[in-house]
Amino acid sequence: MTEIRDNFNRTFKTLRVSLLNTCNLACVYCCCGNEDSKENYRDAKSKALSATELITLIRMLHERLNLTTVRLTGGEPLLYKQLPDLVAGIRQLGIPELKITTNGLLLEDMAPALKEAGISSINVSLDAIEPEVYYLMSRRHDLSRTLKGIETAKHLGIDVKINSVVMKGLNDSQIMPLLQYAFDRDITIRFLEIMAMGHLHDSADKHFFSQEEILALIETKYSVLPLPRKPASTSNYWQTAGGHLFGIVANESEPFCSDCNRLRLDAYGNIYGCLSSNSPISIREADQQSLDGGLMEALAQKQSVKFTGSTLSMLHIGG
Ligand code: SAM
Repeated sequence: MTEIRDNFNRTFKTLRVSLLNTCNLACVYCCCGNEDSKENYRDAKSKALSATELITLIRMLHERLNLTTVRLTGGEPLLYKQLPDLVAGIRQLGIPELKITTNGLLLEDMAPALKEAGISSINVSLDAIEPEVYYLMSRRHDLSRTLKGIETAKHLGIDVKINSVVMKGLNDSQIMPLLQYAFDRDITIRFLEIMAMGHLHDSADKHFFSQEEILALIETKYSVLPLPRKPASTSNYWQTAGGHLFGIVANESEPFCSDCNRLRLDAYGNIYGCLSSNSPISIREADQQSLDGGLMEALAQKQSVKFTGSTLSMLHIGG
């Protein structure tokens, strides 16, 4: 079988699966604030793929692409009712890395079952360490639950990383306290430049806080050394003189499209080759032939230079 590759020699090796496009937070970069009506929630849940359907699609994709990583995301993946069964089912497909990105609210309760089912690593989104700023970013008062989730997962020996989206004027005051929190617990933290997605499509600029600004702030307290970037990585990493690691996902100031190997599958069985695309390609009913066509179409969605923005929020396409 011919390999699926584009003219830039890119293929798909990492699959990000959005399990649900609903969330128990309403973060200001993801939601405009009106999304969580009960009706939307019921509708989204009733159309979402079951664990059996998801495993079938992931198996087909793996057979064609020889995936190295599956990351479960959303929406909030820990709200997905059949999550431990799904994780165990994907584990059996033999894909080396199976990871989750979560806001951590339900992690304290679910971490043992996730570990048991075979999750190797968890990214927790945490945009603030002060309760008022956490509320400003997430529109919910749940900081202590997220922190307990992080501690529990770490205690169980799961590899935990923290992701923090930085928005100028909203939570840039949290960079240093978050860094300290992570360093104290030996957790790798990554700061993300804001992306022009969803309702922020035309206004992300005013909150943009660049890699250069983040680094300059960190260097007021720490001396840091850049580490070589790993192929297809979303993040640049640095090491402090004390041996702590931190990263910056510089979507805007240092784009990483040239070797991007990510494919996204949303909760309804649509694939996307790029976050810049808001054109869903359905593979819900695909056979081998139409799957190949869909994958070629998704590969053609990849940008050659940089992310160009999208009117679709990460809530739908999966972060
Ligand atoms: N609910 C889960 C969580 O909070 O981690 C998973 C979904 S969330 C959409 C996944 C990631 O997308 C989070 O790390 C979030 O910070 C990031 N994200 C969402 N919208 C973003 C934007 N406009 N710019 C940068 N990062 C964004």
